[in-house]
Amino acid sequence: MYFGSVKFFKHLIYTVIIGWFAAATFLAVFFGVKYAVELKKNKELAAEAYAEKNVNSESESLTLEQYYLRMAADGFTAEDILRFMEENEGAALDSFAESYISANPDKFDVDSDSAGSGSGSTAAEYTLLYPELYAEAPEEFIEKEKTIYLTFDDGPSENTLDILSILDKYNIKATFFMCGGSGERTQEIMREVADRGHTIGIHSLSHDYETVYESVESFLEDMNNTYNSIYEATGVKPQIIHFPGGSINNYNRLIYPQLIAEVTRRGFVYYDWNVSGEDATTHATWTSIYNNVLNGINETSSGRAIVLLHDSADKELTVKTVEDIITALINDGYSFEALDHNVKPITFSYAD
Ligand code: ZN
Repeated sequence: MYFGSVKFFKHLIYTVIIGWFAAATFLAVFFGVKYAVELKKNKELAAEAYAEKNVNSESESLTLEQYYLRMAADGFTAEDILRFMEENEGAALDSFAESYISANPDKFDVDSDSAGSGSGSTAAEYTLLYPELYAEAPEEFIEKEKTIYLTFDDGPSENTLDILSILDKYNIKATFFMCGGSGERTQEIMREVADRGHTIGIHSLSHDYETVYESVESFLEDMNNTYNSIYEATGVKPQIIHFPGGSINNYNRLIYPQLIAEVTRRGFVYYDWNVSGEDATTHATWTSIYNNVLNGINETSSGRAIVLLHDSADKELTVKTVEDIITALINDGYSFEALDHNVKPITFSYAD
C-alpha cells in the first residue's frame, strides 16, 4: 500500500521541501519587482513635485533651482539628486535644499553663477565638446511690464515670410526659435528674418525628442548643429535657446538639470513660455488660438508674456490669427519686443 508507506513519507517530505523553495523564490521575485516599480514611481513623483514647485512660485524657485543646478554642476546625477530627495521624504523641498547647503557649506560662498568651474576635478567630459559652442552671458537681466515677446518655433517654413510681413506692418520685432537647415531656400528665409531685425534663437535641427534627449552628449550634438546652421545662414551667432518641448518635459526628465547647467555654463540663456497659443494641437481653431493668447496674457500678473506660437508649413491658422492678436494687444496698450539674452527669462512653464 502506497499511503502510509515509507515511500509515501519520502515523497511527502520532498514535495514539502520543493514547495517551500518554490514559494520563497516566487515571493522574492514578486517583492523585488514591486519594489523596483515603486522606486521608479517615487522618483517620478519627486521630479514632478520639484517641477511643479518651479512652475508655481517664481521668486522662490530661483534659489531652489540654483541649488539643484549646483548639485548637477557639482557632478551629482539627476538620479543622485532624486534619491537625495527620496531619502528625505516627508521634508519639504526647501529643507532638502537647506540640508544640502549645510552639508556642503564650502560650495555656497559667492554669487549666483551656476557654472561650477571652481570645484575642479568633477567636470563632466561633455563640457569639453564643441569648444566653439559658447555665448556671452549677459551681465544682468532686464524685466519690463506690459511687454509681449512673440516667439515662433520650428521655422523656417513657407509661412515665415507671411509672418514677417505682418510684423513689419505693425513695426514689431519678434523671436524665431529655429530648427534651421542647409537648403538654399531655408537659409535665404533665415537670412531675411535676421536682416529684418528679429532675433533667431536655437531650437532643434532634428526636432526628434527621443534622439535629442537620449543623453547630454546627443543634446549638445543637436544644439551644435542648429547653432552652426543659424550662424552659416545669417552670420549671427545665436545666444538664446528654446529647448524642444520646453526645459522640463517627459523626454528629458532625468537629464534636464545637466542640460540646463551645461547650456548656462556655456553662456546661453534659455527661455520657456508663460502663454501658449496651443496652435500646434490638431483641434486648434482661429478662436482657440486667439483666446488662448489673450486670456493667457490677461492672467499674467505684470503683463509680461513670452507667447509660444509656431512657424511651420501646416500652421497657416497661426498666420491668419496673429494679426488680430497683435491689433487687440496694441489696443490694450501692450508693447512688443524681441527676446535677446538680456531679457529676464521665463522658465519652467508648463503652459501646454
Ligand atoms: Zn518645436
